[in-house]
Amino acid sequence: MSSVKPDFILVHAALIMIMVAVVGIIVFTYSGTLRHQSIANRITSADKGIEKKVVEALPKSAYDSDRRKISTGDCVICLMEYADGDKIRVLPECGHGFHVGCIEKWLGLQSSCPSCRRKLIG
Ligand SMILES: [Zn+2]
Ligand SMILES: [Zn+2]
Repeated sequence: MSSVKPDFILVHAALIMIMVAVVGIIVFTYSGTLRHQSIANRITSADKGIEKKVVEALPKSAYDSDRRKISTGDCVICLMEYADGDKIRVLPECGHGFHVGCIEKWLGLQSSCPSCRRKLIG
């Protein structure tokens, strides 16, 4: 019987050590995930773009090279030159214009003008 008891204690000790290690790994991973999430939350809450209905309410016009209302001849988002008849959305705060599709995608992620970084909301 004397040879059984030390083995039993050894197995017990090994099990406890494994459990401590597993719990340690779980706690470490969990706290790391939490920290990561809180940073991600801070980034998204700081700038989560503009609601689609607000973007859609921005003034929209067709590009006409004869009467250039827009200061630049190309869209800074896709770097393409405007062509006559292109649908352009002009930001009321700064007067910068962009393709309708480009600025809608941009403002889904950002709430500032891609050209001058002026905040459109808040
Ligand atoms: Zn564009
Ligand atoms: Zn601008």
